[in-house]
Amino acid sequence: MHCGFHITHGGAILPDCIFCKIIAGEIPSQRVYEDEHVFAFRDIAPQAPVHILVVPKEHIASAAELKPENSHIAAKCLEITAQLAKSEGLGGGFRVITNSGPDGGQTVFHLHFHLLGGRPLGAGLINNG
Ligand code: 5GP
Ligand code: ZN
Repeated sequence: MHCGFHITHGGAILPDCIFCKIIAGEIPSQRVYEDEHVFAFRDIAPQAPVHILVVPKEHIASAAELKPENSHIAAKCLEITAQLAKSEGLGGGFRVITNSGPDGGQTVFHLHFHLLGGRPLGAGLINNG
């Protein structure tokens, strides 16, 4: 990237990243949770009655970038995902997905975990195509 980094209390953000802008409040979102390290908001194109994106405030491009220095942030995201599943009434179950890279179907290159639920999601892991 040619653009510069801004250092905030949460870590580095990328000025051209749509999720960094959502976290910074520069693009509106339906926020459902926020703490020092994690931000969660409703997906703009929900694929289930509950579809929340749980993202680290620090700009990490994808799950492929996780390493010993930052894996605790992903763990924190999953902890918050479990908390949100409870508060969203998903006691019957839910699915957590992270797409990584073009072949993984990732379209926004800021790590995020999709929390999906509110209806039976079936047993399949992928849609071919
Ligand atoms: P990916 O395809 O990278 O796994 O997921 C990106 C997700 O971000 C998609 O489900 C898409 O609907 C969602 N998304 C993209 N732009 C926006 C936005 O501006 N606001 C919100 N709330 N969700 C977005
Ligand atoms: Zn970002």
